[in-house]
Amino acid sequence: MNKKGLSFAEVALFTFIFLNIMTLVHELGHFITLRLFGCDAAMPVVWFYFGATPFECDSAQLSPLQWWIVAYAGALSAGIVSYLLWTRMGKDSIWRLAAIVGFLYGVLPNLVWQIQGTDAYFAVSMGFPPAWATFVMIAAMAFVSYLIYKEVAELE
Ligand SMILES: [Zn+2]
Repeated sequence: MNKKGLSFAEVALFTFIFLNIMTLVHELGHFITLRLFGCDAAMPVVWFYFGATPFECDSAQLSPLQWWIVAYAGALSAGIVSYLLWTRMGKDSIWRLAAIVGFLYGVLPNLVWQIQGTDAYFAVSMGFPPAWATFVMIAAMAFVSYLIYKEVAELE
């Protein structure tokens, strides 16, 4: 085991790789739910810190609840994978960096419903109550903060 840890360049490289992997995981959440609800969705594309899932679906084709699920499925899938990496991998595992990248990039920014273009913004535009969107945002932020706090404080 290398106790010196990784260099800045190595962490930068892994962060870049994990950002794109976790973006793909996020987009797959949208892709799978769109397909599940009968929309014509193409495989997600990911390039340089950005991902998108091309799809064709009339807004009337899905119920509001289905649109909310599609909207939040990206953050949810990135969140689940990040959580599993965070809790299952050893403390020194490089995959825990992927978990942090997943939480801080694949989950939390997408839940800020006040910013145009986020998944939560889309959910609210499809009728998801802003109070609920605010709750989801705060709860997710608190949950991730708690996980990180427990580790930083070295608690059990
Ligand atoms: Zn998304």
